[in-house]
Amino acid sequence: MKPHFIVTLVPGDGIGPEIASALVKVFQAASVPITWDPYNSPTDDRSTLKAIVESARKHRLMIKGPLATPIAEGPRSINVTLRSALGLYANVRPCKSFAGVESRWDGVELLIVRENTEGAYTGIEHDRGQGKVEAVKIVTAAASMRIAEYAFRAASHRPRRTLAVAHKANIMKKADGLFLQCCREVARKYPAVSYREILVDNCCLQLVLDPQQFDVLLFQNLYGDIVSDLCAGLIGGLGLAPSANIGAECAMFEAVHGSAPDIAGQGIANPAALILSGVLLLRHVNLHREANRIEQAVRSVIGHREATTGDLGGNGTTTSFTNAVIEALHEPA
Ligand code: NAD
Repeated sequence: MKPHFIVTLVPGDGIGPEIASALVKVFQAASVPITWDPYNSPTDDRSTLKAIVESARKHRLMIKGPLATPIAEGPRSINVTLRSALGLYANVRPCKSFAGVESRWDGVELLIVRENTEGAYTGIEHDRGQGKVEAVKIVTAAASMRIAEYAFRAASHRPRRTLAVAHKANIMKKADGLFLQCCREVARKYPAVSYREILVDNCCLQLVLDPQQFDVLLFQNLYGDIVSDLCAGLIGGLGLAPSANIGAECAMFEAVHGSAPDIAGQGIANPAALILSGVLLLRHVNLHREANRIEQAVRSVIGHREATTGDLGGNGTTTSFTNAVIEALHEPA
């Protein structure tokens, strides 16, 4: 019997509902065996957040649109809260060039693995008075070993079997030093994976100058968040960057981009990153045929350019792009 999955769906804020509706339409057209368990945005409602966490724990799969977070005020980010409540320790962001998209580089094929539970994202900050604030960065051996294991395992399954860890252990000698120590320990278990350490600032420079030198890139939380946006820029922008948040018991999939308040409600958002995040979910549950078919349809529409949205230089809308992807599902493989 064909497997069937229930997936918690949170369309989110800003452009979230527009792109989530595109994802649902594409999955329906591809007859993907998924039933949705949908929820409103939890941004102002803690009881909705609780219900979402319960649903995701039960069904073990979730797709989420972007959630807005107030800048320099308000409660802790709900994105960060969800990741920690669901134990989503690995944030995984594949970054692969698209034929037909004008970008600085062709042939980019990176896998970014970011520690997702600690580092500078603990949200622990103390006001010490007299214009002084203290922010706490936490690095533990347990979380560092776990993410290093994930990254080395992923690298060992890729053709180039190469992993670079980017750090700032020249300045944060203890915190980033412990992270590096754990990476070195795990590296010894994977002799077939070529291992390299690089300062995160040099890593940014090298990514812009010659991204093809990298394969799997491993980061702590904050560095990974920042550098993965840079990597999205290398292949054509945030509208093309999907991500997976992986835990021991649950996985959540979301676009790398945010709620894009500047274009929300205009029907012009690019839904590709969220649809491709859905493709990552399908691969996660071994629905490879459906995943390949949808990814190929998205790449085909992007390759032809006319139907793409404005961020990729086209004249399309969210709806026309989605319809073109649905049409492309019927193209021969
Ligand atoms: P953003 O990613 O929302 O937007 C950055 C730029 O990229 C904007 O010009 C936007 O129009 C454009 N853009 C983003 N996605 C696009 C798409 N799909 N199609 C076309 N253009 C797109 O970043 P921001 O403006 O810095 O953040 C806005 C809000 O999103 C903030 O509240 C932030 O906290 C939140 N955010 C949420 C997540 C998440 O839920 N995982 C991630 C990042 C930011």
